[in-house]
Amino acid sequence: MINIAILGSTGSIGSSTLDVIKKQSDRFHAYALTAHSNVQRLYEQCQQFQPEIAVMVDKASAEQLHTRLQGEAKTAQIQVLSGSEALDLVASDAEVDYVMAAIVGAAGLSSSLAAAQSGKRILLANKESLVMSGALFMQAVKQNGATLLPVDSEHNAIFQAMPEKLNALRVNADKAEQANLQTFGIKKILLTASGGPFLDKSLDELQQVSPDEACAHPTWEMGRKISVDSATMMNKGLEVIEASWLFAAAADDIQVVIHPQSIIHSMVSYSDGSVLAQLGNPDMRTPIAHAMAWPERIDSGVAQLDIFSISQLTFQQPDFERFVCLQLAYNALRIGGTAPAILNAANEIAVEAFLQETIAFTQISRVVQRTMEKLPAVPADSLDIILFADGQARAIADSLCAEYGKQPPYE
Ligand code: NAD
Ligand code: MG
Repeated sequence: MINIAILGSTGSIGSSTLDVIKKQSDRFHAYALTAHSNVQRLYEQCQQFQPEIAVMVDKASAEQLHTRLQGEAKTAQIQVLSGSEALDLVASDAEVDYVMAAIVGAAGLSSSLAAAQSGKRILLANKESLVMSGALFMQAVKQNGATLLPVDSEHNAIFQAMPEKLNALRVNADKAEQANLQTFGIKKILLTASGGPFLDKSLDELQQVSPDEACAHPTWEMGRKISVDSATMMNKGLEVIEASWLFAAAADDIQVVIHPQSIIHSMVSYSDGSVLAQLGNPDMRTPIAHAMAWPERIDSGVAQLDIFSISQLTFQQPDFERFVCLQLAYNALRIGGTAPAILNAANEIAVEAFLQETIAFTQISRVVQRTMEKLPAVPADSLDIILFADGQARAIADSLCAEYGKQPPYE
């Protein structure tokens, strides 16, 4: 039996992971479940999946959960922990084989790193870990013999379209250096993007859009933060940075391709002219099950792709002028050091302000751009340096949001 710790079990990725575990319960066990403060959801998951450990980051929520679990014989033995330190504890627990890193945002960094440092198989959904601290994270994976498998659908697709031999090298700590794209005849990574709900909106129209409109994604159902990121295309920008670390690729090796149907989840282009793609219904249970079972394949519960019902697969170039966030992310990747962490932190603050309706949609990219201008990047040599830059960027972005909040959206 394989024990899995699901960090962020009450979220969109966490729930899909539990769905796959339910289907594959003779093989996988949800050993630890964690959430921030959604007591009801975690309580229901505990009842259904009977984990050994449940973590609620929020202390008051942990007490409530504990009381409720104690009330029933079936759940009374579940150990309840609280505080963010408990996330690192379960991520490095000796009983845990796989860690699903599915916390949203920078809050997921510490526990993802703890999983890497304790040599786990990491099923990585929390792209922010790589965006903020790619070099340190990859180093921790290599030094501790961890296995890093991408859950983000595009990166999982790229992984699937890469040569098996290359993937085997990459996940092998001692040989990762030989996992060189050029040696394997790889010309380009084609990272697909749906373009989000506002693909065809003009800049003028974008100023007026509401949080609910931004969260109504045309093809994927996701948490609110990543939904807004998809609408600004910052999500794709973060994914470019994520791909550069996962596949040791330079910014110029990664081409974003708008593909509104979200059927092709990404492609790899080879020197002989071949392009390999991974296709499937837009359902995260596919990449989750792939990462759980790799190198085998298991039933994920996702319906087979009905190829005849797809009338068209279309592709277009991204528009960097309307989707400024995508350009900013490429810039941050090229600058390197703490620039991606600054980009990410400013974006988290700006997205939250937009969701709270204190700034306009088009001001998200302004906040990120101005924060990057105000705060120069430095080499990202340690976690302390990265977290310091993250904190500084948050403070600057906060004050920019306060400033913009008092003005009409055309600042
Ligand atoms: P979500 O908002 O649905 O869930 C987030 C989870 O994180 C919840 O369980 C929540 O309790 C927990 N959490 C939130 N703040 C926390 C904190 N401060 N400390 C500890 N736990 C906290 O998010 P999601 O859509 O499932 O996304 C999770 C991650 O997966 C993100 O990094 C996202 O970019 C990535 N991802 C998501 C999808 C998707 O389809 N949803 C696809 C690809 C990648
Ligand atoms: Mg993705």
